[in-house]
Amino acid sequence: MIPKTDLPADARLETRAVREGLPPGPYGENSEALYLTSSFVHPDAETMARRFSNEEEAFVYSRFSNPTVTMMERRLAALEGSGGCIGTASGMAAILLLITGLLKSGDHVVCSRSVFGSTIKLFQDFAKFGVETSFVSQTAVDEWRAALRPNTRLLFAETPTNPLTEVCDIAALAEIAHRGGALLAVDNCFCSPALQQPIGLGADLVVHSGTKYLDGQGRVIAGAVCGPADLIDTRLVPTMRSAGMSLSPFNAWVVLKGLETLTIRMQAQSQRALELAQWLEAQPAVERVYYPGLESHPQHRLAMAQQSGSGGAVVAFNVRGARAGAFAVVDQVRICSRTANLGDTKTTITHPSSTSHGRLSEDQRMAAGITQGTIRVALGLEHVEDIKADLLRGLSTLA
Ligand SMILES: *Cc1c(COP(=O)(O)O)cnc(C)c1O
Repeated sequence: MIPKTDLPADARLETRAVREGLPPGPYGENSEALYLTSSFVHPDAETMARRFSNEEEAFVYSRFSNPTVTMMERRLAALEGSGGCIGTASGMAAILLLITGLLKSGDHVVCSRSVFGSTIKLFQDFAKFGVETSFVSQTAVDEWRAALRPNTRLLFAETPTNPLTEVCDIAALAEIAHRGGALLAVDNCFCSPALQQPIGLGADLVVHSGTKYLDGQGRVIAGAVCGPADLIDTRLVPTMRSAGMSLSPFNAWVVLKGLETLTIRMQAQSQRALELAQWLEAQPAVERVYYPGLESHPQHRLAMAQQSGSGGAVVAFNVRGARAGAFAVVDQVRICSRTANLGDTKTTITHPSSTSHGRLSEDQRMAAGITQGTIRVALGLEHVEDIKADLLRGLSTLA
């Protein structure tokens, strides 16, 4: 039997973020131990046989069970309000596990057209195994409803989206999914459970790139799927056992410790994002700002209700002068990191149409609303006045 932590049943999210996991080991360590071991030793052959046949719960082999990974999974499950969680090697591995564990040839998926680029590519790739995906508008609920077929098994959403922070209605999509006998999975990467808990809104599953806010300091690649314990145990754990897209204990430990500061980081970074977004709206060289915390955002009200009254930490904006204008701003920063990653304590700046969305055609980008003048900034923890000054260096040359 793998023991549980001794926490009061009503312990709140902030408390679980710091305390949930496994009880300390025999030495009483206060900070969680890092179990860098590939396998575990058993007292005798009978016990070993029981553990291998799942008659007795124990750690066996780190491809599918490791105490440090279990601690991360329990802590993240507590934050998402899910019964279970399984760690994966990356965010994309989490989606791969979801597809291979839950779907079979002949099944149909409905997915937002605005999700992460590699997610679209992965769903498209599964057409060769007989899993077909229909892509629909992020925000038009009717399109989701109309796309459902008798063989639809999964609805897949991500909210807010990258880079334009479009918000979809999780509760409405959950209702459509359940009425059609399908499951709703939500990629909760941008808000993290500190701001948004999709399962509480009716979603069945949550996928994460732990690489982003869960780690929070840009150190590791990691991922996870959260959902009902029985679904994870019966469908995803066996797939993990045979397919091995496993989370390394070291990366799990980094994410585990990152979760301890998740709520205060999300609050602080989102506060900076709101301040920056309001300031950007007043800049003459800025044509449009995309941030759910602004009243000008098309889904502002929904976002505030769904995201604990917060817009999150990512801001996108269009500058004058198209590509040359955007490059002038990106090239003149001295503090922001020019990188496509996000979810770091270091503010990052990127030009989506030549990087993350560079593989799309100009038509596809225009349909998504991403122009050559679009810039995305993911706020970190620097002083926001320094970030404004960093952006103003380029913006002041465009006005
Ligand atoms: C980064 C990201 C992913 C993929 O995660 P990796 O850890 O890089 O594999 C998936 N979804 C969203 C929204 C992301 O931002």
